[in-house]
Amino acid sequence: MRSYFWFLLICLLISCAKSVEEKKTFSEEKTSTPSEETELSSQKRVDKKVKSNPVTQIKADPNELKSLPDATLVDITKYSDEFTLNIKYATSDNFLKTAVYDCAACYVRAPVAVALIKANNELMKLGYRLQFFDCYRPHSVQKKMWEIFPKPGYVANPRGGSIHNKGAAVDLTITTLEGLPIDMGSAYDHFGWESHHAYANLIDEVKQHRTLLKETMLAFDFKTIRTEWWHYNYVGGRRYPISDFKWNCTEDEE
Ligand SMILES: [Zn+2]
Repeated sequence: MRSYFWFLLICLLISCAKSVEEKKTFSEEKTSTPSEETELSSQKRVDKKVKSNPVTQIKADPNELKSLPDATLVDITKYSDEFTLNIKYATSDNFLKTAVYDCAACYVRAPVAVALIKANNELMKLGYRLQFFDCYRPHSVQKKMWEIFPKPGYVANPRGGSIHNKGAAVDLTITTLEGLPIDMGSAYDHFGWESHHAYANLIDEVKQHRTLLKETMLAFDFKTIRTEWWHYNYVGGRRYPISDFKWNCTEDEE
């Protein structure tokens, strides 16, 4: 009887050991399956990519804009990456034939940024997005532009300044969602009848593009000016002071 008891006990121990071994093998197989390994490491790569993406790191909550003091000048690209920038005055591809900005940036007053983000969201539902040619323009740059091209109607006299100097005017167009240009009937800063809102000798497609941009901007508290299809003033934007803040062109370079 005693030997039978020992026999049973030994059998039980062997069986337990075998079961543990099987479980171990199974779990090892499970973690070392090549396809899962690949998936796991590629997932790690994705996570790493997201974390190291500088655009993600600098992004701020657009709702924060509403709690900022009214006159805060903000870099709109820190609150939305849905716009594209084509800042002509940071290049020599403009009517002055020289760059007057050290680098491209789009700063506007906080409420102006809120309105632009809303307008862009509406346009994106229709397959378009906003592209900026010019936003806030420091007063010293206005003076520089006036020195190069002192012609009222082309450049605002720095004595009175421009709404651009107040951070409440934008020069912009619409592009496709992919950022491809769309025919607006005349180039940016083309100072001729073709750029006027009332100019009617345009093909229907161009008229539709201008109407879409205009109606969207008007719906989000912007006003047109008669002579430039690309220029919009924020309603009440004259209340802001003329500023000479200059954006840092090196802060994002590492
Ligand atoms: Zn303008």
